[in-house]
Amino acid sequence: MLDSINDVLDSTRYILGPQVAAFENEFASYCQSKHCVGVESGTAALILALRAAGIGKGDEVILQTNTYIACAFAISAVGATPVLVDVDDRYQMDFGCTAAAITHRTRAIMLVHLYGQAIDAQRFAALAKLHDLFLIEDGSQAHGAVFEGKRVGSTGDFGCFSFYPSKNLGAYGDGGAVITQDPELAEHIRLLRDFGQIEKYHHVVKGDNCRLDTLQAAVLRVKLKYLDSWNVMRRHAAQAYDTLLNSASLPMCRFDYATSVYHLYVIEVPERDRVRNHLKSSGIETGIHYPIPIHRQVAYEELQYDIGSFPSAERAATRLLSLPMFAEISESQITRVVSGIYRAFEDLGLRVYA
Ligand SMILES: *Cc1c(COP(=O)(O)O)cnc(C)c1O
Repeated sequence: MLDSINDVLDSTRYILGPQVAAFENEFASYCQSKHCVGVESGTAALILALRAAGIGKGDEVILQTNTYIACAFAISAVGATPVLVDVDDRYQMDFGCTAAAITHRTRAIMLVHLYGQAIDAQRFAALAKLHDLFLIEDGSQAHGAVFEGKRVGSTGDFGCFSFYPSKNLGAYGDGGAVITQDPELAEHIRLLRDFGQIEKYHHVVKGDNCRLDTLQAAVLRVKLKYLDSWNVMRRHAAQAYDTLLNSASLPMCRFDYATSVYHLYVIEVPERDRVRNHLKSSGIETGIHYPIPIHRQVAYEELQYDIGSFPSAERAATRLLSLPMFAEISESQITRVVSGIYRAFEDLGLRVYA
């Protein structure tokens, strides 16, 4: 890794250059995609995809309400309106709700592969095609995940990725990318990320400065080689959790994430906050993804969604718990987490099956 970083320092090519181009080629081919454009973050990837699709004021983009806020902010950033929908029983975008939310203003569906799960993008692509909409896949939690042989991001008009350090493929800072099969969309995004320059000082569109940093590209090129093996390690860790949680017979829900690269390992428990605090007191940190659905965020008061608008997502927000998950997590760490959960259930008087 240090060699790759030093190569950039020695070359003094700090902006774009061969490292970024090489990463783009490698990531495109890894994702079974024809084109990749490196950008500064996952949020920038979503914004540039929306802009390249010509989406703006007066347009609607359908998005699930249980996701990271960046998705909604990207839609707002281009002046469009996020139209939120509920989640299905795996906390992913509900297909029926999505179809029902399409209006004459809808221009795109933003499909988030939440928690590392590869969603059936082809089903959403068919729906999008039927209504002449763009399909924007957000693969920021699912780099490398596969559904029926297709990598996340390769089916939609755009696949957007974040390389925030904690993602399955993370840089040593911010980073992102858009992949697409369409050469014109790729070219448009390439212009938008770099001041709309077709050549130096020749600006053909009103662009922005949101390039992928060259040092980060060098880091990502090294890490990309390990992504599949890290994803396998995450899957093994998830299997270990599955087995131990099954034998502990706790009254909780887990989901069959058959096509997941386990960015997160999420369970659903009663009395989630009490369980979480109990775990914390025995030194086990957990997360919540996400405690407040987008329709209940203060920033989106204007959308005027009431409590109860999206019952599945609202129930999820009070019950979901993300257990420690990273490629290198050990069996003994996993065992410790599961016994911690077992103890929490016992101490809190939550039902423990014999
Ligand atoms: C992390 C994340 C983003 C935002 O990525 P940044 O690189 O932090 O801008 C967008 N969407 C999803 C689903 C994410 O998990």
